[in-house]
Amino acid sequence: MRLTPLLIALSLSLPSLSAHAAQKPTRIPDAALATAAQLREQALADDTGWKVVESLTTEIGPRLAGSDADARAVAWATAKFKALGFDKVWTEPVTFPKWERRSEHASVLGTHPQPLTVTALGGSPGGTVEAEIVRFADLAALEAAPEGSLAGKIAFVDYQMKADRSGSDYRNGGAIRSRGPSAAIRKGAIGYLMRSAGTDNHRVAHTGITRFDDGLTPVPSASLTIPDADQLARLLARGPVKVRMALDCGWDGEATSYNVIGEITGRSLPKEVVVIGGHLDSWDLGTGAIDDGAGVALTMAAGHLIGQLKQAPKRTIRVVAFANEEQGLYGGRAYAEKHAADVRLHQIGAESDFGAGRIYAFNTSAPDYARDATRQIAEALAPLGIEYQADKGGPGPDISPFAAQGLAWGWLAQDGSDYFNLHHTADDTLDKIDPKALAQNVAAYTVFAYLAAEAEGGFGSEPRQVRPPQE
Ligand code: ZN
Ligand code: ZN
Repeated sequence: MRLTPLLIALSLSLPSLSAHAAQKPTRIPDAALATAAQLREQALADDTGWKVVESLTTEIGPRLAGSDADARAVAWATAKFKALGFDKVWTEPVTFPKWERRSEHASVLGTHPQPLTVTALGGSPGGTVEAEIVRFADLAALEAAPEGSLAGKIAFVDYQMKADRSGSDYRNGGAIRSRGPSAAIRKGAIGYLMRSAGTDNHRVAHTGITRFDDGLTPVPSASLTIPDADQLARLLARGPVKVRMALDCGWDGEATSYNVIGEITGRSLPKEVVVIGGHLDSWDLGTGAIDDGAGVALTMAAGHLIGQLKQAPKRTIRVVAFANEEQGLYGGRAYAEKHAADVRLHQIGAESDFGAGRIYAFNTSAPDYARDATRQIAEALAPLGIEYQADKGGPGPDISPFAAQGLAWGWLAQDGSDYFNLHHTADDTLDKIDPKALAQNVAAYTVFAYLAAEAEGGFGSEPRQVRPPQE
């Protein structure tokens, strides 16, 4: 799941300036609806998605962007697309700064000395700091601290993220990770600690990218596990606490990875594509099963199932395994740049990057003329327990840069009730995926992609600048 500033749902509220009013309504033919119903039942009984995520997480494991494992994942994805019957498979390069984690330690000093379990935030510099910690309840409290009040101190933001199905509190947890370190540096801090942006109670820390504002000198920045944050809060209640934090990590030149793309070529409008996908990179602590091996696997499986049909869909199904989402949507931005001239050729796009929980809601960004077609897809999804939520949703992270250029998006909302128990931790492993829930996801993506590809008419993709809503 991405981390971006709160965006306003402009694309839904702004009337289009083009001639949509005169546009013929988009419709999905009955024959396609009948085929989609068959595909849906077939997908529920199929284990391709599970086999693909099992293969990725077992054979490659963690795949930090720019690492050797990331390169092996690119080769894996290329081979997997071919093995799954995609008739066109290629890669597009994506270059970005390379960050590495080597070691990370922290401990409480003084009268109650003891180790702490931490993990460096992605983008943190290495270094060793020893200082008193100053606790803040949330980011606003840190931002309100007097100038210079943290000189020589380590800031500690102790906000507990709340769990819900849509993961909405990640707005707060994520902001503490992305903006907290810079806020702390402005007040004079020499180090930054945060309660993990997570909802579990396990002794595993949640990593994730942070950024330092221009003009600031970055300081070692890490997250504590939730039990460790509790421990620190209890120690602070007894008096001042001094912590030693030693991180060995940092940026090391540039790396090039690849968006890996597979296609099932369309039968009559092959240049027009329905694009679905997930991101291939992961953090280095777990094996990237829910983030985002599942997204890659379930969209690959959907493309595979559509490719098994006797008659190819009208338009092309394109599945993208995006490079380096985690450190700043590099793959999604590269895709948007490379395909900028082809917005109109993209029927619609959707990315799965919120785990492997069952999909419970659906929507698209389609304008009025394609609302009936959206409703038709929603009806085909309804037997999967998916509700049409006409005013909700947004594009997945890697789709969002292209959606900002006018790509129509589909939204297939996954149940993320336990997503932030696992997200960006060593616990993000294959055993957390329920094969039945994954198959439901495959079924939903298969139905969505197939019906969008078969539609008579479009879903509103056209070149224009929009600010897509955040999911
Ligand atoms: Zn992630
Ligand atoms: Zn992700």
